[in-house]
Order: sequence, then C-alpha cells, then structure tokens
Amino acid sequence: MVSENRWLKLYVLEGGRSVNIYCVGRNYRLHAEELGNEVPTEPMLFSKPTHALIEMKGQEIVLPGDRGEVHYEAELVIQIAQPYKKGMKVDELVERFALGIDFTLRDVQSKLKKKGHPWLLAKGFPRSAAITSFQPFQGVEASKQVEFSLDINGKEVQRGKISEMLFDLETIIQFCAKHFGLGTGDLIYTGTPAGVGAVNDGDAFCLRWDGKPMGDCVIRLA
Ligand code: ZN
Repeated sequence: MVSENRWLKLYVLEGGRSVNIYCVGRNYRLHAEELGNEVPTEPMLFSKPTHALIEMKGQEIVLPGDRGEVHYEAELVIQIAQPYKKGMKVDELVERFALGIDFTLRDVQSKLKKKGHPWLLAKGFPRSAAITSFQPFQGVEASKQVEFSLDINGKEVQRGKISEMLFDLETIIQFCAKHFGLGTGDLIYTGTPAGVGAVNDGDAFCLRWDGKPMGDCVIRLA
C-alpha cells in the first residue's frame, strides 16, 4: 500500500487539486456491439475516483473477487498538460500518454444499467484504473498509425487504434472541457476496442504500444 500511495501523490498537484479521471464509454463500434449496446451519437463520459489509479509495474493487483465478473478494457490514456482554453488543439494540450485498463464489474454494471442507476459501483472501485508508465505523445496523426494491444498470459485478446474511435480525441477533449472542466494532470481513458472479457485469478496482463510492452501486472481476485 505504501508504494501505491506514493505513486498516487504524483497525481495530486500543487494547491491540493487532485486530477480528474474521465473515461469514455462505447467509443469503438465493435465493442459497443459486442455488449449489445447501441452505438452512441454523442460521447458518453463517466469518471473514476483517484483511488482507482494503480500503476502497472509488474506487481500483483488485487481486484474484487466477490462481486461477479471483473472485465478488462484496454484503452489509450491521455494526460492534459495545461489548463484548457477554448480552441486549443489536442497536440497543444497533450504531452504524454499511457495505456490503461478500465476494470469493470460487469455483472454489477448490468444490474445498474437495468435500474438506470449511475455506473460508479461498477467502475469506481479501488485499483479499477490501471495505468502503464507514460511516454511522450507524438501527436494525433502519428498516434493514429499505431496499434495498441493487450496480452493475457501471453495471448493477445484486444487490439485497436485510435483512428477507429467513434469520437476522436479532439471531440472528447472539447466535450470534457465544456461539461466538466479540464486542467493540468487530468487523465482521459479514451474507450476500449472489441475483445473485452472476464479476468481470472492469476492472469498476467501486458499492455503493448506498437508491439512494445508499456506495463504489466498479475491479477489477484480476492
Ligand atoms: Zn472503458
């Protein structure tokens, strides 16, 4: 827990403001369809508490084992480098990116959806926002050419690239800024491609950018 908390402090900025963690739901057509959801006509955003953040650096990550299926969702994560001002472009605002996993309690989420309740219980639990180390952002156009992927136990389960997003980075950024505010350090999980599935106890995860590992972990369900 100590190292986990120390790492989290990196995300609390001077002045005591914590970063916001925004996530985009259903941002890849095939993923929306695989869960039987309608393809959205405007971005669908939710957020996670900062307690959800956990860096993937080869260690065990403990996730809930008593609340039904936990699903993995591999995603590109961008970090906002300065306060948003109207008209700013993605390449001005984003200096670094990571890959991440939006862990989701899928059975809990299905029940919440049926009741029309918020998703927080299914999406906001501790360590539900796993994230790799950061890399310099090479710009939107260059990033569109590169595929990211998730391996579990050495077998690829998800692969995607941001050119396949329903709502591109600029649209997502403008949407977040308009409706919630967007400032230095804020993180945006930009949605997952098709191939999501249930996590099993002991699974070894590895997120890759252009085939190169960016972060890994082993899952412990408890
Ligand atoms: Zn997601």
